[in-house]
Amino acid sequence: MARIFVIANQKGGVGKTSVAVNLAASLAHYGRRALLIDLDPQGNATTGSGVDKSACDKTVYGVLLGEHSLRDAVRHCEGGYDIVPSNRELAGAEVELIAMERREYRLREALDGATGGYDFVVIDCPPALNMLTVNGFTAADAVIIPMQCEYYALEGLSDLVGTLRKVKQNLNPRIEIEALVRTMYDPRSTLTVQVSEELKRHYGEKVFDTVIPRNIRIAEAPSFGKPVLLHDPLSKGALAHLQFARELLARNGFEVAEAA
Ligand code: ADP
Ligand code: MG
Repeated sequence: MARIFVIANQKGGVGKTSVAVNLAASLAHYGRRALLIDLDPQGNATTGSGVDKSACDKTVYGVLLGEHSLRDAVRHCEGGYDIVPSNRELAGAEVELIAMERREYRLREALDGATGGYDFVVIDCPPALNMLTVNGFTAADAVIIPMQCEYYALEGLSDLVGTLRKVKQNLNPRIEIEALVRTMYDPRSTLTVQVSEELKRHYGEKVFDTVIPRNIRIAEAPSFGKPVLLHDPLSKGALAHLQFARELLARNGFEVAEAA
């Protein structure tokens, strides 16, 4: 059975999509079968995986609304993983879902029985704690929270943790925090180091040892429609993402022999 991770943080620009795309590519690099689900109407994970979002007629929107199956929307991408794409159409789903029964379970029910061919599913969320993100939380086994080590990060994190607590009580008892991953990390900044310490005090082991540095190759890669691993495999950004995937695999009991 696939292990399902949801990448969430209601703040925009913290590196969610970057982590989602590069995690899927890194898992594929290590021989794991990965499915990336783009749950953001901005479709950045879709574009960043080299898929033309305006040319997709079957997307996660149709999956949530029950117009077609999840499998019908799956495409294979150059990064070696599969993707369920998204585009602007998904923005309408928020409103349309409100009228639907079991609206929080739409993604989960679509995934049921459709993940047999995968080791991991990675869900990229929009920058909001909305019905789309709740669908992600309800479908997942665990949450990966990318965050920048800046002052307001901790405040935002407690809102996120509060929402997760409610989801756990009411919708999905198995949801856990898998990882807090520090992105765009700059060890020269005093604030980064202080916030980092604070994070570890509050969340202990959940804070992954691997940090993703601020790296220009990571920022460039989406404009080529590629994960950084394909754009510049030896860049610090690519190596950090591979290391993050190895840490995740190791914590989930998978052996990874290769160093990088
Ligand atoms: P989110 O999905 O949380 O909105 P993104 O992954 O889209 O965040 O990242 C926001 C912007 O920062 C994008 O332009 C992305 O290319 C860039 N970015 C993400 N991670 C890094 C990094 N480690 N170093 C440099 N730029 C990054
Ligand atoms: Mg994003």
